[in-house]
This record gives sequence, C-alpha cells and structure tokens, in this order.
Amino acid sequence: MPKCLLVIDPVPTNRIRLSAAFESAHYDVVTAATPEEAARLAYCDPDLVILGIQSDQPRQVIRSFRTQSFSADIPLLCIDADASPMRRLQALRAGARDVLPRSLPDRLLLGRLRGLIREGDAELECQRRRVAASSFGFAEAPSEFSRTARIAVVNNSDRLPQLPEVLRATLGHRIDRLGLDDAMRGDDSLPSLDAYVIVAGQDGATLETLLPELRDRSHSRHASVLVLHPAEHPKLAVRALNLGASDITADNATGEELAIRIDAMLERKRMRDRLRKTDEQSYRLAATDPLTGLYNRRYAEAYLADLMMREQEHERGFVMMVVDLDHFKVVNDRYGHSAGDRVLCEVANRIRDNLRACDLISRHGGEEFLAVLPDTGVIEAERTAERLRQSIAGMPIPLENGVQVSITASIGVAFGQDIETEAVSARTGTFDIEEASNLPPLRQVFDAADAALYRAKVKGRNRVEFSAAAGV
Ligand code: GH3
Ligand code: MG
Ligand code: MG
Repeated sequence: MPKCLLVIDPVPTNRIRLSAAFESAHYDVVTAATPEEAARLAYCDPDLVILGIQSDQPRQVIRSFRTQSFSADIPLLCIDADASPMRRLQALRAGARDVLPRSLPDRLLLGRLRGLIREGDAELECQRRRVAASSFGFAEAPSEFSRTARIAVVNNSDRLPQLPEVLRATLGHRIDRLGLDDAMRGDDSLPSLDAYVIVAGQDGATLETLLPELRDRSHSRHASVLVLHPAEHPKLAVRALNLGASDITADNATGEELAIRIDAMLERKRMRDRLRKTDEQSYRLAATDPLTGLYNRRYAEAYLADLMMREQEHERGFVMMVVDLDHFKVVNDRYGHSAGDRVLCEVANRIRDNLRACDLISRHGGEEFLAVLPDTGVIEAERTAERLRQSIAGMPIPLENGVQVSITASIGVAFGQDIETEAVSARTGTFDIEEASNLPPLRQVFDAADAALYRAKVKGRNRVEFSAAAGV
C-alpha cells in the first residue's frame, strides 16, 4: 500500500510543487493550508507530515499542529526557506524530526523522506510487537542501557576539530575520539558503543569506507550513527542515509542541535534494544519447557526437520533416543507431584551432562525425553545410550526432605540414516516397514525409536533397545 503524506503549507504553489514531487514518487498525498484544516480531513491517517514553515515562529506552527488531534507518534518533517542552524534548532526543540531547506532538490528531499518513513515504520512495528508480546503474557525485557551512553566521534577531516569537547559540554554521555583505523577495525573484546558521530569531510570517503563496515560487524550493527556532512554538500546526506546512517545534519549545527539529535537517536536505539531482548525472551519461552529448561516438543520437531535435511545432504547419520522414566507414576503417588517435578529436573540435568553441546535434548512429554545426536555412528550411540541409562539408574535422587528416590529409564534408539532401508524393520518386530515407508522420513525415525522403547519396556525396563542396524 502506498504511504500517505500530509502536506501542510499556507502557500498554494508550495503545496502544488511538493504534491507533484511526492506523487511522482508514488506516494498518496493529502494537502491542507493549515494544521486546523488538516485536522478536519477525517479520512487522513498520514505516515509522515510535511509542514511548510513561513512565519518567523516555527515553534508556534509546530505547536499548533501538535495540538490538533494527530497522533504524537507521526514523524514531522519541516520545510523552511530559512534552514539556518538557529531555525533548525527551534524546530527540533519543538518536536520536528528534521528540518530541510526549501531549496533542496527533490531527489534529496525524497531521500530524506524515505529515511524518516522507514524509521516511522520501524517504530510502529516495535509498538505492534510490544502489544502482541504483552498480550501473550511476555513482559517487556528491562533495558540494560545505562543512562550514560558511550559515544565515539570519528573525524578524519580538518573540520570541527573541537567536536568531542562541544558534545561533552552539552551531553551527559561518555564521548571519546576514535581514529578511522580503530573504528574500522573495531574491538569485539570491548563493550559495544551506543553511538558513532561521523564527520563526513568534503569527499565523503570516510562514509564510504566506515558506514558499511559498522553495519556489517555484529559489534556495531545496532549502534546509532549520526553523520555530519559539509553544509555546502547536502548530497552527502542522502548518501549517508543510504549507507545506513541513523540521522544526518549539516556540520554547521549548534551543540544543542547535535545534543537533541543524539538523544533522540539513543532513545530510538533503547526502544529497539528492548524489543530485540523481548523477542529473544519470547522465543526462548516459546521454545523451551519451563520445568526443566530443556527444549520443548515443538522446537525439537522444527529442529529435526531441518537436521534431517542437512544430514541427508551430507550423507551423515544422526541418532534419535527416546528416554522414558520407568514407573514414574509411582514416584508421584508415593512422594507427591512436586517431588516428581524434582526428579524430572534432575533426570534432565543428568541427560544434559552426558551429551555433547551439539546434541539436542527436549522434554517430549510428561516423563519422556528426546535426545538427537547429529553425525553419530552406531558404536558411539550404543555407548552413549548405555551411559545415559546408568547415569539415571546409578544414583538415587535426593529430595528436599532428605528422602532418596531411585528411578530408572528405558531408552529406545533409532538411526536416521538407515530408516529407508530394509534393515530397519528386521529387528523391530512391531515396526512395519511396508506401512512405515508411506510415512515421511522423520515420522519413520520417531516411530522406530518409539517401537524400540516399547520393546525395552516389554523386556523388563531399565534397558536400551535399538531399532535396527545397531550391530547387536
Ligand atoms: P512406564 O514405566 O510404563 O513408563 O510407567 P509410567 O508410570 O512412567 O508411565 P505412565 O504413562 O503410566 O505415567 C506417567 C506419569 O507421569 C503420569 C503423570 O502424572 C506423570 N507426569 C507427567 N508429567 C508430569 C509432570 O510435569 N510432573 C510430574 N510430577 N509428573 C508428571
Ligand atoms: Mg514412563
Ligand atoms: Mg511415558
């Protein structure tokens, strides 16, 4: 859907010129002469507002716009015949996202506009996900971002030599000078910087080399970047935005303008960081079992589908083990449900301690666990399964009241690589190859492991059984 722009400007020729420029770039455009008139356009829900400033008082015009019933979240771009540093500052102080000179060529205006719309979209998405996460009961992750941010000034030019001092005087953050080479190299052992202020210099060479590098490296990918371009080279501003700058302004900006921009940029970064953490937390909660901390069945199945494909591609085999506690119901009946929970957690720990970091362990049902061992052969599987069995049966589990609970497990093992061969059915007894070959390969492995587990139970429990091809 095309984005909707609201142009508010008292001069009809300005409105016509801006509309034509935006419509030719495929935006929907609504125009109004005053903020009051714009507010009466009930159907208008703009993604961005472009406010033409004519009067001597940008602040009053912006205030009168803000008092209308537009959402305070809609980004506001001011266009001012006089975009001198003082006028820019007045508009930013009043809440504009940016101020551009009326003389700016359309191409540059559109470039800046796209950047602001992208940013607005990102903020809206953040809000949506925050609402979705909270409706699922996921609390928003607390921000670890300290109030004092770490900011580096990278300046390879002869302009603004005093910039770090100017920023230190207006911002309560830690400001360091950083040479271009050091910024390019980065240092993953140091804490990440929250923001970079880059002085573009005349030719923009610093931008071309540094910006893509910062956006590429995991260490600096999420940092905010403010680019100061030579006031006489507005073209560099759009280049900087295209290369990933978070904000741009001319290098004749006052210290206060820079402070407002940097603080706004850091605030947006804080919001994105919080959201990323909330996402990670939601993902963890959705993928894990809350009692044992192991992966849950849903995650294991998604993981297995992918693993199956990868291992087949590389002609490697994986091993699946289903571990089911023996007579676990008796533990609950005798010691209570919370003692049962304690036993489940301890068994989960013992399984974890006996497998490699690359193996997947999930709680597959009440007292049933699944272990998947990629790139594993028959002998290693036999040894591992037996070690698992012993680690569960070998030592009773202490409860909080000093009681010791002895528990054993039966383990069914199946081999991913052999599942489509005749050998699979040879020893299972209960596993019908005719029927199984109609199933998707992953289900076949599951069923083969289940069939082996069933045999372990029938043969007396506390033992390991193999689906086939185990050389037993
Ligand atoms: P078998 O040797 O045949 O596997 O016998 P079993 O008693 O282990 O198997 P059964 O399926 O009869 O019982 C499983 C029990 O596991 C019943 C159920 O109450 C218990 N259980 C399932 N989930 C949990 C849980 O989260 N916590 C606790 N404490 N018990 C659970
Ligand atoms: Mg059981
Ligand atoms: Mg069971």
